[in-house]
Amino acid sequence: MSAKIVKREELAKDIFCYEVETPLIANKAKAGQFVILRIHQKGERIPLTIADFDREKGTITMVFQVLGKTTLLLSRLRENDHILNILGPQGNPSEIKDFGHVAVVGGGVGVAAIHPILKALKEKNNKITSIIGYRSKELVFWEDKIKAQSYEVLVYTNDGSYGKAGLVTDGLKDVISREKIDRVIAVGPLVMMDAVTKVTKEYNIPTIVSLNSLMVCGMGMCGACRVTINGKIKFTCMDGPEFNAFAVDFDELKKRLNSYKEEEKICYKKELEKC
Ligand code: NAD
Repeated sequence: MSAKIVKREELAKDIFCYEVETPLIANKAKAGQFVILRIHQKGERIPLTIADFDREKGTITMVFQVLGKTTLLLSRLRENDHILNILGPQGNPSEIKDFGHVAVVGGGVGVAAIHPILKALKEKNNKITSIIGYRSKELVFWEDKIKAQSYEVLVYTNDGSYGKAGLVTDGLKDVISREKIDRVIAVGPLVMMDAVTKVTKEYNIPTIVSLNSLMVCGMGMCGACRVTINGKIKFTCMDGPEFNAFAVDFDELKKRLNSYKEEEKICYKKELEKC
């Protein structure tokens, strides 16, 4: 299925927000799910988290950062252009119920991915403290959208150029020290999710992370998104993307994520040089 881009916005440098028309996906989408897209006949398939959806308009919203060749090509599309193929919603929806007080942690581009989770948690009357972190002020986006769904929002930048200076884990430690937290959900870079897990393990707070493993087919066949959970092999696309953080082998996943870094850099550079 192809999908028309109805709204295109650059949220921050190299971070784009696309709203695309795809009524069948919009109709079924739930918090925590993702789509797989391809932008030309020979293009690679990339997973992107559904950051919002509107069933009435028949649209879904995706936020991505230009990191490699495909995201660079994607960022060159304009409003009314079509994304060649879009498949979804993929993955299991987030587990949503009244947990009590939930701390939801979003790092960088991962802030977009926590947005539908916050909406769904709010609908179930959870008290939500959101902790969002960016490298610096220029990269801050969607603070308003996160505020609209949360009881409290703590904003951190690594360099202190906006909000408080520090990492999201500083905010998490602060919240845990003053309030009883029943559940933590974290989405962002793997090192961040690993660091969050180290904090919550100390307090034994149930923690969920959304894993961003390499993915190709997105349908459980190719094995590219393999992760080790409690010593057992799982596929992020079919068994995830969310997992109990305490069961994740983060060190193995970090190594797997770096497998094609060099090739990715070369492809990206070649594409840049074409312009
Ligand atoms: P980034 O490197 O700019 O980090 C964002 C924030 O995360 C930092 O400001 C900091 O507060 C926190 N952080 C980073 N490293 C940390 C550490 N070691 N300890 C504690 N906190 C730390 O992030 P980015 O470049 O925007 O990358 C976003 C990541 O989110 C990408 O890796 C992307 O794959 C991932 N992502 C995942 C999903 C998903 O569903 N799993 C969805 C969207 C994005």
